Amino acid sequence: MYLVEFLNVGFGLSVVMRKADNSHVIVVDCGDDKASIYDQKERRRVSEYLSQTGIRTVDLLIITHEHDDHIGGLEKLLQQCEIRECWHGCLSPVHRHNLQAHHIATKLIADKAAISIDTWTLTVFQPDPLKAERINQVMHAGTHEGDAAIGEKLNECSLGVFLSGDQGKALITSDIPSDYWEEKADLYHQVHVLQAPHHGDTQALPAVLLTCAQLQWIVVSADDEGTWELPSADFETHVKKYAPHAQVVKTAEKNSGCDHSGVRFVFTENEAWQESLICVKS
Ligand SMILES: [Zn+2]
Ligand SMILES: [Zn+2]
Repeated sequence: MYLVEFLNVGFGLSVVMRKADNSHVIVVDCGDDKASIYDQKERRRVSEYLSQTGIRTVDLLIITHEHDDHIGGLEKLLQQCEIRECWHGCLSPVHRHNLQAHHIATKLIADKAAISIDTWTLTVFQPDPLKAERINQVMHAGTHEGDAAIGEKLNECSLGVFLSGDQGKALITSDIPSDYWEEKADLYHQVHVLQAPHHGDTQALPAVLLTCAQLQWIVVSADDEGTWELPSADFETHVKKYAPHAQVVKTAEKNSGCDHSGVRFVFTENEAWQESLICVKS
């Protein structure tokens, strides 16, 4: 059995992918760290969620890009877990040194890398290798001017994560902009579970992604509280137009009758994806 869990980290992204016995655990992004976000008791920092789940070791941490809503929770994760390896895209020297100080093996994904976990293949890809290389150069030069310009471009160079197995496929799009997918749709045409790019931004979700033949679930990783005006007000209408059979689920759905800490997808040997909510006792 294999689990993919999109945590309710408010506005931000943190995904846990793990074998059900926790013998192999992957974390994609760490969510934000602002204390005010976690005032709502159902929300969970990834560090807290892993600890509640009995997980002390993360085999692979993937940092898609270093915006606060994706990397803010890194420090607490470093404090609470042993992280064996970290794959990243554009990452400033301060974060690289921090990972090295914790003796974590790091790998810059300049283009693409993949690993196998049992029958699954996990592929991590850089959507814009040339731009990412330039950003990394500027980050290492460390000029203030460069930093301001970089901030706006990080979404364009956020890593994508594609999980593929016989039972189904999941695509984590992080904050990758819409034009990337136009040429790549054939690669991902059988995705069952799609993380809506950029926290439910209609502008970032092109029709080609929504017309994936097997698409069943679209996960919006954001709380619906108007942050950056995301998710977009017309998000569900947009989805219905191109993918009428797909179900939209939000990491912060509030109709579950329990404190909703995220969305979990479960793969078993004989069944396709099942979706359930991660509920915690208050
Ligand atoms: Zn983001
Ligand atoms: Zn971002």
